[in-house]
Amino acid sequence: MTAAMIETDAVIVGAGPVGLFQAFQLGLQDIHCHIIDALPHVGGQCVELYADKPIYDIPGIPVCTGRELVAQLQTQIQPFAPTFHLHQEVTEVTRLDDGRISVRTSAQQHFICKVLFIAAGVGAFQARKLSVEGAAELEGTHVHDRLGDASRFAGQDVVVMGGEESAVTAALKLTLEAPAPRSVTLMHRRDVFAADPVLLQAMRDAVASGKLQLQIGQPTALLSSAQHLHALQVATPDGQTIERPAQHVLAFLGLSPKLGPIAHWGLAMERKQLVVNTQNFATDMPGIFAVGDINTYAGKKKLILCGFHEATLAAFGAADIVHPTRKTLLQYTTTSTELHHRLGLV
Ligand SMILES: Cc1cc2nc3c(=O)[nH]c(=O)nc-3n(C[C@H](O)[C@H](O)[C@H](O)COP(=O)(O)OP(=O)(O)OC[C@H]3O[C@@H](n4cnc5c(N)ncnc54)[C@H](O)[C@@H]3O)c2cc1C
Repeated sequence: MTAAMIETDAVIVGAGPVGLFQAFQLGLQDIHCHIIDALPHVGGQCVELYADKPIYDIPGIPVCTGRELVAQLQTQIQPFAPTFHLHQEVTEVTRLDDGRISVRTSAQQHFICKVLFIAAGVGAFQARKLSVEGAAELEGTHVHDRLGDASRFAGQDVVVMGGEESAVTAALKLTLEAPAPRSVTLMHRRDVFAADPVLLQAMRDAVASGKLQLQIGQPTALLSSAQHLHALQVATPDGQTIERPAQHVLAFLGLSPKLGPIAHWGLAMERKQLVVNTQNFATDMPGIFAVGDINTYAGKKKLILCGFHEATLAAFGAADIVHPTRKTLLQYTTTSTELHHRLGLV
């Protein structure tokens, strides 16, 4: 089904810290925006790569975690109510004859906007693929990177790979399914799992009661015949190679960023980054700006603070396009009644 077309002033590609702050700066300029991200949640690298680690170099915040910074940014942009479109990748960007920009996503969503902000960081995060012999051919049929409808595994042998919360949660969920899989195995290269202690205790209890099997080791091959998986070959820590029955493998191997379709949008690039000017962080295509880790210019530093500065000047650049008849003046949030109105304070 094709989703309805949305005509809007601004679209932001990427809901990382810089994409979120871009929405704030656009709001101050009286520009509503839609934000798209490939991930099912906002926060970009801050949430995906270091959610619980401290950041010390955000002005005015001596210390906060990645997750806390993103939560604060979400609160800050609330007055401007940007519309989020998560879990979909922006696949296509083209310029229309009337100067506006057409943006399409992997969820068949179509936007027509006056200005586009690419805040895509190091690219869209995608599930890391299982790279052992025989895996590529079984992708989507016997090898999966998400649990999906667990009932499809009823009566079968399932191996869940990974040492993070997603793997532990999926394995436990499968043990509770009715009708249940014939066997559920949680497999990781070492007997150390990074998950909430309550979840870990539930996992250990399920192992003790025999509902869940634990396999420590590395996968070396998938054994199949006529495109049907029947076993997983595993190298164990004591140097043996064993076979485990498996008709399905769920591989939760983390996410890795891929620049993906951005390289094909016809924008000037240098070493996989979008070239921008430092006056308003516009790319070589009118109306398209690039902010945060995705851009490059002389002296570029991939820091959140620098991305915030870029987003601020890019919003001024966008105001000239979206409101061509208005004079874009610098106003202080402390004293401007107009900005107080936009912030919903009066
Ligand atoms: C371990 C670690 C620690 C760090 N610590 C600090 C620190 O202390 N201080 C600091 O200033 N910086 C730090 N950084 C760097 C900081 O995280 C980045 O500079 C910042 O995240 C860049 O923000 P961004 O919004 O530009 O991009 P990102 O955070 O990368 O967000 C980009 C978003 O765009 C999405 N996206 C990409 N392509 C598409 C597409 N085609 N369609 C839809 N969505 C797309 C991605 O899914 C992602 O969510 C750290 C980085 C790491 C890895």
